Amino acid sequence: MLPLPALPATTDGRPRRAPRAVLWAALVVLLLVAQILLVMLTLNYEEARAQERSDDVAAAALAALRQRSQTLLQAIQALPAGDAAELPWAAAATEMLRRYPAIGRLERRDHQWRVAETADSPLRRPVFERWPRAELEREALTTCDAARRSSAARYSRSQFVPGLGGLGQEVMQLCQPLLDGANLTGYIVATVVLSALLDDLRLPVNAQTHELSIVEADGTRLARSGSARGAGIYIAQRLLDLPGAPLQLRVDAAERHPSLIPNLSTALVLGLSMGLFCVVVLLVRDGRRRARAESRLAEALAFRKAMEDSLSTGLRARDLAGRIVYVNPAFCAMVGHDAAALMAADVPPYWPAEQVLDYQRRQTERRSVAGEPGGAVPTALREGVETEFMRRGGERFPVMVYEAPLVDGQGRHTGWMSAVLDLSDQRRVEALSRQQQERLAATARLASMGEMASLLSHELNQPLSAIASYATGSLNLIAGAASPATGAGSKPDPDLPGLLHQALSRIAEQAERAGRVIKSVHDIVRRRDQAFEVVAVDQLFEAVMPLVRMQARGSGTRIELQLPQPAPQVRVDRTMLEQVLLNLARNGIQAMDGGTPVAQRVLSLRVDWVGGGAAAGPGRSGWAAFSVTDQGPGIAPEVAQRLFTPFFTTKGEGMGLGLSLCRTVIEQHGGVIDHENLPARADGSGGGLVFRFTLPLAVPRQAAAAAALPDTARP
Ligand code: ADP
Repeated sequence: MLPLPALPATTDGRPRRAPRAVLWAALVVLLLVAQILLVMLTLNYEEARAQERSDDVAAAALAALRQRSQTLLQAIQALPAGDAAELPWAAAATEMLRRYPAIGRLERRDHQWRVAETADSPLRRPVFERWPRAELEREALTTCDAARRSSAARYSRSQFVPGLGGLGQEVMQLCQPLLDGANLTGYIVATVVLSALLDDLRLPVNAQTHELSIVEADGTRLARSGSARGAGIYIAQRLLDLPGAPLQLRVDAAERHPSLIPNLSTALVLGLSMGLFCVVVLLVRDGRRRARAESRLAEALAFRKAMEDSLSTGLRARDLAGRIVYVNPAFCAMVGHDAAALMAADVPPYWPAEQVLDYQRRQTERRSVAGEPGGAVPTALREGVETEFMRRGGERFPVMVYEAPLVDGQGRHTGWMSAVLDLSDQRRVEALSRQQQERLAATARLASMGEMASLLSHELNQPLSAIASYATGSLNLIAGAASPATGAGSKPDPDLPGLLHQALSRIAEQAERAGRVIKSVHDIVRRRDQAFEVVAVDQLFEAVMPLVRMQARGSGTRIELQLPQPAPQVRVDRTMLEQVLLNLARNGIQAMDGGTPVAQRVLSLRVDWVGGGAAAGPGRSGWAAFSVTDQGPGIAPEVAQRLFTPFFTTKGEGMGLGLSLCRTVIEQHGGVIDHENLPARADGSGGGLVFRFTLPLAVPRQAAAAAALPDTARP
């Protein structure tokens, strides 16, 4: 099998690598960008989530704190009024302190702010254990004063209460004025321990992850809760809108910035999977493209095989060593060996035994011309070579071998591809055609001889009849002179010698003319060069007019001759041209003889200048236009079609060669001949016929006119 054609390649023959590399680079860059974006987005997301969690904790803590302070207030307001109550205040206060660990101490004061009763929380050490209460009541007093004015509970600012062992705690005083209608009856002052307040919130989620603090507006931390320490990154701060206390609740997540490494590896895994996906998609597409290309290739191969099998031309491929690598069925049929035998043979079995050495030498020579295997592709060996092959049975036959270099996909010369044409049939046909041509030529020679004989008899008829009539006339003259009627003594006619001389000269002229006719016709048949000479047309007419007139006289026809002055000059074979004029004139006279009334029998001969003016340009000197017009019946259409056909005649004694000869002569002189029926006469009879022919001028009109001027008129 032949090497398969290469897959699509660039114009310089290399496969398209560059665009693919660019695609891969773009893919890698895209993957990198995607991974970086992924990492950034993940980090952002994680940070936002952490911040959200802090916000959630802050919101929950704030809600819980508000709710706690609300119930605290309600509990304080629910405490018995004091001395007048059925339940002792101290017992109720202690009970309440047990329920609210955030409150360190409860005091009931009268309307003059004197302490009526106090109760310390049983859950902790007394708040004012180390520092006497009296020294720390300024805040409480201010708060109660404000509470009294607003008639609503109020918190004091936070204050530090030192404890035992160098410790201490931040507390706030919550003051609830006690009113009896519009009268102030006293105050309940609760000391709220801030850290306990936070601990008491008991939020389910925050203990390990978030640090809760209560801070002042300037950021000073007053209390904190939770085992976790805040990292100071995800902070949520909310205003603790306790009446009178401008404090804030702050939630600080223990969580730090999200770590890059796990995100990076996630992104890497994701990116690689994306890359893998892209590669798979590309591979699938590539696979599909390959499949399509393969199917196209298979179709092309099938098409080529069908084409090669159907060819009647033999195809043969050889490698550089001359070994056959492929032959098509037509080649096998031609030489009578199968493909396997041809490819296996060292010496092709179709080489005629006696020429093997020659053929081998030729092959070696060609290999040396072709150069090295795989080298530059030779171009000079494409022309066809005629040689001889041998069929299986030993029959030699001529072949034409067209050989072209075989070039592989990389542009390397790998061998030779030949188209082999069996020339046997062509040779047979050529031999046959040669024989036929020879036969044809022989027939043509015979026909020419016949034609020549016909022409001669036809054309010699006129000079001979002229000679005959001159001879008869001369004899009559002589007989008249010698007749007894004139008497022996009578004097001989003095004009007789002159007349006889004239008649004999005419006879001699006509004999000479007959000789020229024979020579010219002979020349035409033998295709010898004609005797061309430049003649003025009046000279032509001068020669033919006596004969024309002689013929016209018999039928009473008048002859009109119109020649321009100066007469055009043409380069012609004079004898043949005179023959043409004679033929046309004779035909015209004969056409009028019989049908046309004698009075109307006029034969008009005319020559005109045509073209050749200044506008005709160089090299175009114009034409002399001849016309021969008769008053006969004209030509019927069916006759017109065959007019110039040799041997076509409507006359009983006619040869039908006159017009065909005319056309041959005119065309040989570079002119054209045609004819035209003239309009019918008033009585309906034919209006006659005109034959026209042209001849190229030998001398341009201006030159002829100048030559014709009298000497005095010349410049
Ligand atoms: P031939 O004169 O021997 O018949 P030609 O070739 O000269 O041969 O003419 C062929 C035919 O053309 C004539 O037989 C005649 O019918 C026709 N023909 C030629 N000239 C004329 C003419 N002037 N008028 C009518 N018919 C003509």
